[in-house]
Amino acid sequence: MFKLSKKLQELPPYLFLEIDKAKRKARAQGRDIIDLGIGDPDQPTPKHIIEALNRAALEPANHRYALDQGMPLLRRAIEGWYRRRFKVKLDPDSEILPLIGSKEGIAHFPLAFLNPGDYSLVPDPCYPPYKGGTILAGGKPYIMPLLEKNAFLPDLKSIPLSARKKAKIIFVNYPNNPTSAIARDSFYKELISFAHKNKIIIISDLAYSEICYDGYKPKSLLEFKGAGDVAVEFHSLSKTYNMTGWRVGWACGNKKLISALAKVKSNVDSGIFSAVQLAAAAALNGPQEHLEHMCSLYRQRRDVLVRGLNSLGWLAFNPKATFYVWIKVPQGRDSIKFSGELLEKANIVVTPGVGFGKYGEGYIRMALTVDKDRIREALDRLRKYG
Ligand SMILES: *Cc1c(COP(=O)(O)O)cnc(C)c1O
Repeated sequence: MFKLSKKLQELPPYLFLEIDKAKRKARAQGRDIIDLGIGDPDQPTPKHIIEALNRAALEPANHRYALDQGMPLLRRAIEGWYRRRFKVKLDPDSEILPLIGSKEGIAHFPLAFLNPGDYSLVPDPCYPPYKGGTILAGGKPYIMPLLEKNAFLPDLKSIPLSARKKAKIIFVNYPNNPTSAIARDSFYKELISFAHKNKIIIISDLAYSEICYDGYKPKSLLEFKGAGDVAVEFHSLSKTYNMTGWRVGWACGNKKLISALAKVKSNVDSGIFSAVQLAAAAALNGPQEHLEHMCSLYRQRRDVLVRGLNSLGWLAFNPKATFYVWIKVPQGRDSIKFSGELLEKANIVVTPGVGFGKYGEGYIRMALTVDKDRIREALDRLRKYG
């Protein structure tokens, strides 16, 4: 009787729900499942952040509607963190906007700039909200394939003039989910000049800026000359402070772009719970030691997993950042079928690459969010089942 809107019908099916269903069914059958599928930190939020939440939650003043633009105290904390981390100066009043998780802001941003039929330039494979947000805004995702031969960076030169003319936004995400690729300086410089030349807004998703290894430290796009005129960067406390469930992140960068996103948001939400904002400020202002510990934990797991897979003859890319390992499906098989077989035969959950877009076909993603012993157990099972 009720017909879904055209936009909703256009959205790609959310493959991850299917995987979740299969996983739950297997667990209900009492099988011992090793879940390498989800990108959700297994370590708890650092204690001083939880304590800040507890204190703030007891304060009645924090129970009321929060300000749409976020508390000044949080925006100042973000400003300080950004300056210390990237040596980039931001105006906390006009160039920073706290978000209910960065996914929220990323998905809403296209509403501010797309008219029906406009394009977003979207990498493929990618984090799904780039496509979803574009479609919900009435726009069309124009696919930029991320290919192994280009180190999983989009080939900007190959984007035809006709697409550049219709494009209002380009999404980039380095360190990258799902491929774990990183961006070279030369790529960011080329991207900024591409954006200026074609009058396209850059959305840089920097959710994994702090999850890095072997001495590599990701840069902010805003460190590069000319980025401040054309770019917004999205950050999240989710991966950096193990706060995925708390829902807090931010956008920062060009003030016209920030105020446009704020206008969209003022029509759809009423701010972030003040106690969560105060806890987020405590996270950004407080000790950062947990990061070293976390990255060392992920690195140890990475070493076990990548070495193990390579010794089985699989091709696994060794990540310098993010907590994902991107792996070629042996013999180039169908990634959904292959993931299904891993679940059925070895009780291992992985994410099929095609879930992130058609250029993810031929790959699977494993997350480093389970402990070393379970990773070793997973490798034993893979050895056993061939
Ligand atoms: C996890 C993740 C985010 C963070 O999302 P939140 O909504 O802040 O939890 C953003 N982008 C990518 C690519 C991610 O993997």
